[in-house]
Amino acid sequence: MRSIAKLDLQYAHRFYGFQGEAQYLHGHTGILTIEVEDTVNEGVNMVYPCNEIQKVAWDVLKNFDHALILREDDPLLPAILGVYEKQGIKNGHPQNKMKGEAFKTELATAYPDSRLVVTKETMTVEGMIKIVYDLLKDKLNIVKLTFSSGVNCASAEFVTKNKIDRCPLCGIALDKNGVCPKCGYKKK
Ligand SMILES: [Zn+2]
Ligand SMILES: [Zn+2]
Repeated sequence: MRSIAKLDLQYAHRFYGFQGEAQYLHGHTGILTIEVEDTVNEGVNMVYPCNEIQKVAWDVLKNFDHALILREDDPLLPAILGVYEKQGIKNGHPQNKMKGEAFKTELATAYPDSRLVVTKETMTVEGMIKIVYDLLKDKLNIVKLTFSSGVNCASAEFVTKNKIDRCPLCGIALDKNGVCPKCGYKKK
């Protein structure tokens, strides 16, 4: 069966070099739907608690929220960093609090201090699905991702090979020692 969680991300981007108005900097509310598949965990009668899927995803994905997403070769990138630098907000600011943990994958690098994500490819909805899958594939048994932003929407299906042990009391993934990080249950 599947547990399905949704979260939304507000971001700014542009399609550098694209022939159309999307080459201008603009913003979106993107909606990400994550479908996790596994057996029903008998203890809690759930596949995975949806709010916990959101939490696992949000830990890294909040890097995209109220962030600017630019392709690595976009000349706006040095221009914006120059302004942030002059303004003293490039390397963080006391009011920049909702920061995710920095990450670097083949497809994207997050700079939480400047609320910036630099991508290898243009950040289309398809591009976002590739980035998100890469970031979350080992943490959740993702079988489908859907990302929509304005009229654009894409989805992709995946085969999951993870064996994730879940707590029979609260449903979340046990750590590598077989202990639930939430309630302390220990697998016998
Ligand atoms: Zn757009
Ligand atoms: Zn637990």
